[in-house]
Amino acid sequence: MLIVMKPSATAGDVDAVVKLVEAIGLRAHSMPGATRTAIGITGNQGPIDGRRFENLPGVVEVIRVTEPYKLITLDLRPDKTVVRIADATIGGSELAIIAGPCAIENRQQAVAVAECVQRSGARFFRGCIWKPRTSPYTFQGLGDKGWEITAEIRAEFGLKIVTEAVDESNVDLIEKHGDMIQIGARNMQNFSLLKRAGRSKLPVLLKRGMAATLEEWLLAAEYIMAEGNYNVILCERGVRTFAQHTRNTLDLASVPAIRRISHLPVIVDPSHGTGTAYMVTPLARAAVAVGADGLMIEVHNQPELALSDSAQALTLSQYAELVAEVRAIHQFVSSNGPANR
Ligand code: PEP
Ligand code: MN
Repeated sequence: MLIVMKPSATAGDVDAVVKLVEAIGLRAHSMPGATRTAIGITGNQGPIDGRRFENLPGVVEVIRVTEPYKLITLDLRPDKTVVRIADATIGGSELAIIAGPCAIENRQQAVAVAECVQRSGARFFRGCIWKPRTSPYTFQGLGDKGWEITAEIRAEFGLKIVTEAVDESNVDLIEKHGDMIQIGARNMQNFSLLKRAGRSKLPVLLKRGMAATLEEWLLAAEYIMAEGNYNVILCERGVRTFAQHTRNTLDLASVPAIRRISHLPVIVDPSHGTGTAYMVTPLARAAVAVGADGLMIEVHNQPELALSDSAQALTLSQYAELVAEVRAIHQFVSSNGPANR
C-alpha cells in the first residue's frame, strides 16, 4: 500500500500517517519528492485495509500496490533518486564513473590506478579487498591489509572507496573504512547480506545476478530498501546466455526497462559484461547512450599481470580515452531531451 500526501501536507500530517502505520505493526517508508511526499508500507503479509488512512489530514490517495515491488517504484517516488556521497552524486546530472582494479593487489598497483582514476575526473575508486572467486584456488583478495591502501587513496586522491562485501561481517568493516558497499552478482540473492546492507548508512551498489530476471533483481533492491536504506544503485553486469563470444551477455535493454519502473539510479559494468578488454569501450559508449547513470570499469596498470580478471582490464591509457569518449556521449544524451533518460 502506498499513501500519497497532498502537496500542501505538513510534516505533522506525514508524521501522523507514519505513527498510525507503526501503531498497526507495520513499517512506514516516507519518500519526500519534488511535489509531494508518498509513504510506502511494508511488513504486511496480506492486504491492508487502506480506508483507515483516507480521512487523515493531508492524505490525497491510498493506492493498493499490485506489483511485487513497493519501494523501488516510480509510483512511490516519481523523481529519480540521486544518491549523494559527500560531494559526489549518482543518478543526478553527472555521469558517475566507478573505476579501479578488479582487486587491490599491492600498494604500488592500487596507487598507480587511483592516480589515473582521479585524473579522469571519476569520483569513485572500486578495488576489491575480498574477491568472490569461482575457484577456491585463485586469488581471494588481500583482505584486511587492503584497508591501509584504501585509506591512502582516499586521503591522497579524494576518491570514494567502493568495495564488495562477500559476507555480513565485511559490511561492518566497509562501514568503518569505505564509502559504498558493493553486492556482487553471486550474492544478489544472499538475503541476510541484503538485509544487513539495508541496515547500513552507506549506499549499496547492487549488481544483477548472473541469471536474474529484472523482477528478481528489483526485489533484491526491495530487500535493502525495506530495511530502511534507500540509497541503492543498480548495476547491470550481464547475464549468462548461450553466447560464447563474451563472458556474459550485457543486457543494455535493462536500463530503459528499469527507468520505466523505478526511481533508482542504474549504472552499467561493461567489464564483467563482456569479459574482454577490446569490447569494454564500445559497450561503455552504448551504455551511456541508452541512458545509464554511470559506469563501472576495471582498469589496471599492468593488465597482463592482474591477479584477477586480467583479460577484461583496460590499460591506464585505454581507460582515460574511454572516459573522454563517454563524457562526450553523456553530454549529447543529456542535452538532447529526456527521451531516454
Ligand atoms: C566484480 O565487480 O569484480 C565482480 C566480481 O563482479 P560480478 O559480481 O558482477 O561478477
Ligand atoms: Mn572483476
